[in-house]
Amino acid sequence: MSAQIIDGKAFAATVREKVAGHVARLKEENGITPGLAVVLVGEDPASQVYVRSKGKQTVEVGMNSYEHKLDADTSEADLLALVDQLNNDPSVHGILVQLPLPGHLDEDLVINSIAPEKDVDGFHISNVGLLGTGQKSMVPCTPLGSLMMLRDHHGSLSGMDAVVIGRSNIVGKPMAQLLLGDSCTVTIAHSRTKDLPDVVRRADIVVAAVGRPEMVQGDWIKEGATVIDVGINRIERDGKNVLVGDVDFASTSQRAGAITPVPGGVGPMTIACLLANTVTACCRANGLAEPEGLTA
Ligand code: NDP
Repeated sequence: MSAQIIDGKAFAATVREKVAGHVARLKEENGITPGLAVVLVGEDPASQVYVRSKGKQTVEVGMNSYEHKLDADTSEADLLALVDQLNNDPSVHGILVQLPLPGHLDEDLVINSIAPEKDVDGFHISNVGLLGTGQKSMVPCTPLGSLMMLRDHHGSLSGMDAVVIGRSNIVGKPMAQLLLGDSCTVTIAHSRTKDLPDVVRRADIVVAAVGRPEMVQGDWIKEGATVIDVGINRIERDGKNVLVGDVDFASTSQRAGAITPVPGGVGPMTIACLLANTVTACCRANGLAEPEGLTA
């Protein structure tokens, strides 16, 4: 069997189109332009690339992008003051503080200082609690993008066995909550899980968010299962730097029914969902109907 490739790049383009349509309507009918503020502290090269890309895509869908670049030695008080200013700025509907922060800054403190309704990364403790109790929240972008692709592929996920490998706060745990919300039977695996291949073999849906290049092997996969590969790992192969996922694509695509590639799978969906969350936050802030198909 050769798996169907779930094209995250194409799917992300359709999400951005939907977002752009909602943005255009908000402008025309309500005179509101959604705004996303991104705060970058320091000069981490990968973070700079992400922030540039986020800013570019924000403008492309018609939203306002506000970039705040702060020196690496910015004090916690100054960063908190900026977040407070953005919390109180009605033209800003979404706030994202790019992680990781320099070591002298308390990430939890900073993230929890963002107004929960503007927390478009979905990392604020209130949003974590709301998601965990099945209430309306801002949902972390990578799991939200993964859920959207699964819903698009399967329609209903109800009753399916799902195994999420990884229990991080930004991917594994929220992913498991979302799958539970869609009535999957969910197992969360991690580094202490016994007989991981056997656990994975039970799954109709496998989400790999581990950070270990090509760890999940084809013979771990139930015939016909859907595999979402969240991993982004840079490795050297044949003298070249290449990007690979947490799943061994060659062997897994022989057994899976469908699989997301790396690159071009989950990755592009993450920024698309950030834009989706910003338009959702804007609608909620203004008491307007939320865009359909862009939330969990
Ligand atoms: P973390 O390092 O925070 O978490 C990794 C998880 O994998 C941990 O729960 C860990 O278990 C588990 N793990 C590690 N080794 C094993 C093993 N041998 N067997 C089973 N489980 C294991 O990573 P993140 O969740 O932040 O990211 C995961 C991957 O997703 C990374 O490759 C990252 O680059 C990628 N990523 C991609 C994004 C995208 O936009 N596509 C966005 C965010 C992340 P334990 O808790 O026991 O240590």
